[in-house]
Amino acid sequence: MKILIIGNGIAGITAARHIRKNSDHEIIVISGETDHFYSRTALMYIFMGHMRFEETKPYEDWFWMKNRIQLYRAWVETVDTDQKHVILDNGKSMSYDKLIIATGSSSNYFGWPGQDLKGVQGLYNMMDLEELEKNAQHCKHAVIVGGGLIGIELGEMLHSRHIPVTFLIREDSYWNNVLPPGESAMVSKHIREHGFNLITSKNLGEIIGDERGCVTGIKIKETGEEIECDLVGITAGVHPNIEFIKSSKIDTNRGVLVNHYLETNIPDVYAIGDCAEFKEPIAGRRPIEQVWYTGRMQGEVLAQNIVGNRQPYRPGPWFNSAKFLDIEYQTYGMVMPKLKEGEESLYWEHPDGKMCVHIVYQPADKKFIGINTFGIRMRHHLFDQWLREEQSVEYVLRNLRAANFDPEFCKMYEREIIQQYNQQTGSSVYLQSKRSFSSVLSFLKK
Ligand SMILES: Cc1cc2nc3c(=O)[nH]c(=O)nc-3n(C[C@H](O)[C@H](O)[C@H](O)COP(=O)(O)OP(=O)(O)OC[C@H]3O[C@@H](n4cnc5c(N)ncnc54)[C@H](O)[C@@H]3O)c2cc1C
Repeated sequence: MKILIIGNGIAGITAARHIRKNSDHEIIVISGETDHFYSRTALMYIFMGHMRFEETKPYEDWFWMKNRIQLYRAWVETVDTDQKHVILDNGKSMSYDKLIIATGSSSNYFGWPGQDLKGVQGLYNMMDLEELEKNAQHCKHAVIVGGGLIGIELGEMLHSRHIPVTFLIREDSYWNNVLPPGESAMVSKHIREHGFNLITSKNLGEIIGDERGCVTGIKIKETGEEIECDLVGITAGVHPNIEFIKSSKIDTNRGVLVNHYLETNIPDVYAIGDCAEFKEPIAGRRPIEQVWYTGRMQGEVLAQNIVGNRQPYRPGPWFNSAKFLDIEYQTYGMVMPKLKEGEESLYWEHPDGKMCVHIVYQPADKKFIGINTFGIRMRHHLFDQWLREEQSVEYVLRNLRAANFDPEFCKMYEREIIQQYNQQTGSSVYLQSKRSFSSVLSFLKK
């Protein structure tokens, strides 16, 4: 059987590896961006000189031939599901028995006047990185439109080259469409303290250019104010990269529509990773999941389905981690920007404004719903277990120290956090003694 995978990102490559582990099928991975799989999340480190491109490749170049995974560099232009083949930008066509679409995301552009000027760019792929190298060379001032995790990375990248950066965001506080007010305010303050100019509650009106077609500034929609700049970073979110599928018979909405087995409406055609959209979202999850680990999980589940171990995608409790400049962020379970009905929260922030813990729970039955931590590292395995076991908020608080994995000699704040909970709720929760932690921690050794 010939399996064709479009996209050599984490989703496509995980599917390829696991199909190979469990079968002898012919596997071909087509991708237009790079010859080999690399870690997209490390793009910023290449720019900042912390890593070379070679070091972002999780597998050596010989790995693919040894594992009989054929790599083919091209862009797929159309998919013909009747003929069971794809047409490539080099004019060739390639047939398949099974087709996996794993084409990731593209940066959002909202049709702003001037968005095609030289010096206007997103940050998603290797082509963007090459573009940034050129655009940053003589850049005196950059404007980043849109916040979020990619925006802050782009800001940090430009800052590492001493380029002054203005953020223009339509929200009134950084990323507050995802972060609750406390965390968002902390991040906004942190960004400003790092010397960024953060303009809130404003939209981009247009991008201004000169006679050579190069960007010279932007205009704010609400005020008409102009800001001079020679680089405009567009980081206003991403969308599934599926334009080339639209002419096919494969059902799409924002992404390629799939069921819980990652199957599309067309037999033998599947979609995984950033480009897939669940027709019926999995409880507690979004229909499109645009993070690294979900791409990996979906690749693994699909591989099992293709080799005959049919199973649905069951990702378990949500988690994610990132960083805002030098503040690390982790989230486990569901901490929404606004509390849902029947939810309560405990927000603790360190007086230095660089650390916080935000726990959401249901006061009626004390069920723990989720946690955000900034500046304090917490173990994923424990929170995953506690969420699956539907533990109470008080159980979580009692055992909070077991979840903390900040390096030795870091000051711990669990007592302060519990004290705040007790004051807020009139409870008398105590931190578990060190000895009791050993039973919780023994779980981690398994
Ligand atoms: C700068 C940046 C930082 C990030 N940081 C994090 C992070 O810290 N944590 C996290 O969880 N997630 C992060 N993400 C998101 C994460 O990288 C993505 O969720 C993940 O890479 C998606 O994997 P994928 O395999 O679905 O798609 P992709 O990694 O996008 O791979 C898709 C591949 O398909 C190829 N392709 C697309 N169309 C075609 C076509 N028509 N023909 C041939 N090939 C095609 C593309 O060239 C690409 O190589 C980050 C993303 C970016 C851009």
